[in-house]
Amino acid sequence: MPSRAASPEGVPSQGWLESDPEVARLLDEELERQSTTLQLIASENFASPAVLAAAGSVLTNKYSEGYPGRRYYGGNRVIDEVEDLARARAMALFGAEHANVQPHAGASANLAVYAALLEPGDTVLAMRLDQGGHLTHGSPASITGRLWRFVAYGVTPPTSSSASPGEVIDFDQVDALARAERPKLIVAGSTAYSRQIDPKPFREIADSVGAKFLFDAAHPAGLIAGSVHPNPVGIADVVTFTTHKTLRGPRGAAILCGRELAKDIDRAVFPGLQGGPLEHAIAAKAVAFREAAQPAFADYAARVVENARAFANALAEEGFRLVSGGTDNHMVLIDLRPFDAELTGKAAQEALDRAGITCNRNTIPDDPRSPFVTSGLRLGTPAETTAGMGPEQMRTIAALIGRTLRRREDEATLRAVRGEVRELCAAFPPYGRPGARAHLARGTG
Ligand SMILES: *Cc1c(COP(=O)(O)O)cnc(C)c1O
Repeated sequence: MPSRAASPEGVPSQGWLESDPEVARLLDEELERQSTTLQLIASENFASPAVLAAAGSVLTNKYSEGYPGRRYYGGNRVIDEVEDLARARAMALFGAEHANVQPHAGASANLAVYAALLEPGDTVLAMRLDQGGHLTHGSPASITGRLWRFVAYGVTPPTSSSASPGEVIDFDQVDALARAERPKLIVAGSTAYSRQIDPKPFREIADSVGAKFLFDAAHPAGLIAGSVHPNPVGIADVVTFTTHKTLRGPRGAAILCGRELAKDIDRAVFPGLQGGPLEHAIAAKAVAFREAAQPAFADYAARVVENARAFANALAEEGFRLVSGGTDNHMVLIDLRPFDAELTGKAAQEALDRAGITCNRNTIPDDPRSPFVTSGLRLGTPAETTAGMGPEQMRTIAALIGRTLRRREDEATLRAVRGEVRELCAAFPPYGRPGARAHLARGTG
């Protein structure tokens, strides 16, 4: 077993994985996969070595039910400082009066907000799932759809005008549904919407019917932190966000709110939904919040959006239809039907996977195909922007996608594209030189 001294930053975690060669080998293989194929899943990113180190730290050993200064177990002096630091950094980053950094994931953060603000059976207005809403926005497959009565708004129909292409949030419908249904809560936020979401019209509609307003910023949190999207804090009553998507931190989530809701939100997270918090994840969140407060992160967020625009334009040139006509965030949603009426999202995703291009199939608004098959693909730029790629690489990738999908039955094409992808990725290694990689897979560097 290697000694602690063998680990350069004193992180006695995965250097010790040499005691488990099976898991060590799998971590090495996954690092290899992430470094040699294109990561275009819009909800993924490459967390920094500092985030990985904190997430793999000794804080995993500690039980700390409760909140700083009010714990149910002894020995939490250091843990209290860690969580207070994470909370203070989250509040400073987004300008919030209160932060809860304990939610294990975006799904549990949303559930906690519903539990804090609603009684079972209350009405909630949220985005339709097949138009970009999240499972936790009332899917019948999610506990949220069983405990509360969700009513859904959608996007406007597509038009033939390039000046106003449609497929944007239909605020007339949000307003009409709010009046007719009198929801207790209105939810903004989406997993597959390529436009900026303005919190103000939601606030006005919520006020007009006396509803509370939750902004689920799971996807754009990093763009908000980097000041390229409007900040919903202070406009929405509550903001939830994941820390692992555009924000580029560890897997997890946080909740922001005003002082008046702080107690209710905290109680809903613990003891309402969760037991002991994951303080190693909370330390990693603190690291990510500090990184996101640096000027370099605002530059990163701007490049994510610039890359998505270049990617969208190049994909349109390949013959794909851009849902909503384009993008002003980190993702592009494409409709495959004008490119090839026979091509499903499922078949496209599988062909691209074989060529080393990782993305996910996605429903498009009013998709005639099932959510398992779909007519669309969702493509995102956060991860490869972190790796250093720019608009030129986005145009190259769009051409590779077009070529792969046009000749998807041809093994030689798939192999040739796989080779070009490998070469492109080698020029933009997410974790630096290949020699440095072994450290990362094993978490010692
Ligand atoms: C990703 C996402 C979530 C859930 O996050 P998990 O960490 O996967 O639970 C919630 N809401 C939206 C809008 C999301 O995109």
